[in-house]
Amino acid sequence: MSLSELSHVASGKVRELYRVDDQHLLLVASDRISAYDWVLPTPIPDKGRVLTALSAWWFDQLDGVLPHHFVSADDPRIPAEVRGRAMLCRALDMLPVECVARGYLAGSGLADYAATGAVCGVDLPVGLTDGSRLPAPIFTPAAKAAAGEHDQNVTQSDVAARVGAGTAEDLRELTLAVYRRGAELAGGRGILVADTKLEFGRDADGELTLGDEVLTPDSSRFWPAKAWFPGREQPSYDKQPVRDWARRCGWDRASAPPELPHEVVTATRERYLEIYQRLTGRRLADWPHPESGPDGRG
Ligand code: ATP
Ligand code: MG
Repeated sequence: MSLSELSHVASGKVRELYRVDDQHLLLVASDRISAYDWVLPTPIPDKGRVLTALSAWWFDQLDGVLPHHFVSADDPRIPAEVRGRAMLCRALDMLPVECVARGYLAGSGLADYAATGAVCGVDLPVGLTDGSRLPAPIFTPAAKAAAGEHDQNVTQSDVAARVGAGTAEDLRELTLAVYRRGAELAGGRGILVADTKLEFGRDADGELTLGDEVLTPDSSRFWPAKAWFPGREQPSYDKQPVRDWARRCGWDRASAPPELPHEVVTATRERYLEIYQRLTGRRLADWPHPESGPDGRG
């Protein structure tokens, strides 16, 4: 089976979606990187493999926590040319809500808190600062925006208006359950999960199911616990080198971004590889399967 034999269904900023059969999709993660809602012209080598390997590992850790779409990253239906960066998944009918959980204050959560004292309608204590740990993890959903636009933070009742109150409450509980499991596992490895974004859909039986990627550096803020110090921006294992570069290079963010310098590409690639290794205890070189035979199958 080659990729050209599958029908291409959609392109996201990072992933290409292909239909495998009635019930299954192939999610192929590219090495593209986005910043400030732009896809940058320079790819980060190995990024797609890290996103796929890490999501696959997390989906395994989430077995028993909630239903998810992941089937396999090492299946004969996955074309050899994309093996390692592709996940075979159950096709879902996706809900138009970005389900964010936050355990710490940063990014748009921090901005909303500074302006209103609340995030997505959740009131927070006074006196919190950049990087503060929240009294308890909170659900801070966002409405998925059109291409090129920012997702908008919304309240639980906005979500209820879109998907129904029962589903909104289920999304909140499942999102927080994933966050708790992720934060617990990462915490044991010296990583704080400041926040994470999930996407859910309904499967063929109508069951609410976790889709997309999960607990990756593209969808989460991961902070080294040892360096955590509220009151300033925290160092993080993600696109930080790209964001730092975007701030100092003079790009106006209104026009197409310039190429990334070589050292920014290298530094970003190293962060993605490091977070994979720190969370999973595995090396990307051993992915998909260290015990695989010469044809790449176990
Ligand atoms: P970004 O993550 O930067 O917002 P994006 O969400 O537009 O970008 P990608 O992550 O590149 O897109 O592509 C993934 C796409 O696949 C998303 O639109 C997501 O909703 C969709 N998707 C994920 N899992 C499933 C699934 N099981 N069934 C159907 N669609 C899915
Ligand atoms: Mg996405």
